[in-house]
Amino acid sequence: MRVLLAEDDPLLGDGLKTALQSEGYTVDWFRDGRQSLHAALVETFDVIILDLGLPNLDGLEVLQGLRDKKRDVPVLILTARDALDDRVKGLDLGADDYLTKPFDLDELSARLRSLIRRSHGRGVSVLEFTDIRLDPAKQTVQKRGEEVELTLKEFKVLRYLMENRGRVVSRRRLEETLYGWDAEIGSNALEVHVHNLRKKLGQQLIKTVRGSGYRVG
Ligand code: CA
Repeated sequence: MRVLLAEDDPLLGDGLKTALQSEGYTVDWFRDGRQSLHAALVETFDVIILDLGLPNLDGLEVLQGLRDKKRDVPVLILTARDALDDRVKGLDLGADDYLTKPFDLDELSARLRSLIRRSHGRGVSVLEFTDIRLDPAKQTVQKRGEEVELTLKEFKVLRYLMENRGRVVSRRRLEETLYGWDAEIGSNALEVHVHNLRKKLGQQLIKTVRGSGYRVG
């Protein structure tokens, strides 16, 4: 699960990032509204945690920017205790939930899990290509009707490629999907996942496009 964290407070941001990572999330942390919006538009996240008081663009403007571009990624807004107006505006602009600062980390992770569950249940359709069937909601893959066991990372690679069927996906984009922007990545980690996917699902499924990346279809 990949989270975009937009929070300018260094202590809170750092604490949140560490806590979320320890729960297994991949976290991209931005301290500025404009960078957050840019990242949210060019990358795929499972959920966005959005502080409303951000430099450059404030949280409500980020939200507006996302909705203008018809992005329906779930957004949890963080608001100050006395900012009722902002909370209402945020929900009007399509935020899915909110937490008032200060909040409990357990409460935050419960809310995130429920947002992600809801969004995975809505509007995600089963992806099919030749004899492969991938169900994003159930996180299952079948080949000719038989379920194939994949690791989480293999599943993520395949899902991303199948969502972008017919297009070349760069290595960098795939690595970001798996690890976030600032993680140290073993140089051949992605090749290993692709190799395993081919072994499990057939050599022809994922094509290597020399010098640029991979493609399904
Ligand atoms: Ca702030």
